[in-house]
Amino acid sequence: MQEAKCREYCSTNGLEVVRVFQEKESAKTIEDRAEFQELLTFCTSNHKSIAAAVFYDTTRWSRETSHYHNVKAFLKRKGIELRAATQAFDDSPAGELLESILVAQGTFDNRMRMFKTIEGMKANLRLGRWNHQAPIGYRIVPEAPAGQPNLVQDAERAPLIKQGFELYASGACAKSKVLAQMTQLGLKGKSGRPLSQQTFDKILRSPIYAGWLNSPTWGIAVRGRFQAIITDDVFEQVQNRLAGTGDGSRQARVRENPDFPLRVFVKCAKCGQGLTGSFSTGRRGKRYPYYCCRVKGCREVKFSRDTLHHDFHQLVYRLLPVDRSFMPLFHAVIRDVWNQKHADRQQRVQRAKQEVASLEEKSQKIIDALLDGTFDKATYETQREIVGTALEKARIQQSEALISADQVECLLEFAEWMLDRAAGIWESASPSNKLRIQEALFPHGLTVTREGFGTASMPLFFRQLHEAPIEETSLASPGGFEPPLPP
Ligand SMILES: [Zn+2]
Repeated sequence: MQEAKCREYCSTNGLEVVRVFQEKESAKTIEDRAEFQELLTFCTSNHKSIAAAVFYDTTRWSRETSHYHNVKAFLKRKGIELRAATQAFDDSPAGELLESILVAQGTFDNRMRMFKTIEGMKANLRLGRWNHQAPIGYRIVPEAPAGQPNLVQDAERAPLIKQGFELYASGACAKSKVLAQMTQLGLKGKSGRPLSQQTFDKILRSPIYAGWLNSPTWGIAVRGRFQAIITDDVFEQVQNRLAGTGDGSRQARVRENPDFPLRVFVKCAKCGQGLTGSFSTGRRGKRYPYYCCRVKGCREVKFSRDTLHHDFHQLVYRLLPVDRSFMPLFHAVIRDVWNQKHADRQQRVQRAKQEVASLEEKSQKIIDALLDGTFDKATYETQREIVGTALEKARIQQSEALISADQVECLLEFAEWMLDRAAGIWESASPSNKLRIQEALFPHGLTVTREGFGTASMPLFFRQLHEAPIEETSLASPGGFEPPLPP
């Protein structure tokens, strides 16, 4: 059908058909498109006798705008035109506009399809459901209705996984010994072969075994709607062992736990150890989050999570100064720093710009090399990866360095605004930002008694804010405060 249309187009337009290339409907990535590659090779080696490449419509040629135009430009250099049998566009400006719109439409449709898939996966994940192949130790429940878990424990492997975690957590033996023991007990991978050290390591680091679904890329961390194989505590101990921190520090796990941002950061006033956070299950099966001191012989403090969070919020609120006389000094210091850094930055941007330009050129050459057959797919992939990474880095440097004087003003305004609202911002921040904010405000952490935070220790940051005895006139010109910015 598509071929007939193309042939018809050729005969109406006086083109002789030299060769027909047919591609499977499902071909999507450059790698799948062997037939397309063949076409390009054919065009390249016979370009002198080829006037045009005719295709059914633009989506048959490419569903990626940049790819479409790259290939088009490449063929044009070889004297070959692109023609769509079912879409009438030519070289006139109107024709080019139409072509661009059609290509963009194809790209858009493709993106929408991908987007819908991804949104579906995100929604699924938020519901506590797993999107991929079952991890070793679990089995997928095919077509589990929404609201039901789509993972269940694999009766054969789950107990072994559990044993492996617990053995490693106990500190009784090294990772390789644990794996050897589990293998002896019959733990096997999907292929039926014993697990590699690497796979086992991955398993030990994967929160899914404690029942958590984590996607750092999408910023999603939720309890899975399936039965965990191990407890949070065991998982935490394993992470500590893997991080080589023993029992003293719980940093590794804490940084990932979205439920208890104040864990470890807040210490028990009596014994000085960081609080832990966990859930207790009430009579009706409801789970209550709380913080407490777990040190044997102390166990001085215990708060419901909401109470401690509320107290923390109140503390930050109380400590922030009402008096804003320090603000001019704050501004002046920031501007000073900015001035010093401005010159450096200009240089860095310049360097990054040159690098971006040269890398972009290189990247085009790599595409050309693939298209004219100088590179095979593997070489192309490797080269593209190398240049792509370098380009990304250079682009980041280029944009990172671009903070203008205007932006400094904006940042100062923002800083002032933020100081006013630090307490509220902590409350609405993401888990990782909560940690950043609380650590910035209280670099040495906080201690808590049964009565709460109290007022005993005001941290350095707040002390400076309170103690800045600034005469506004010493910094501001009579007409108001004029920033000492460069011309
Ligand atoms: Zn204690």
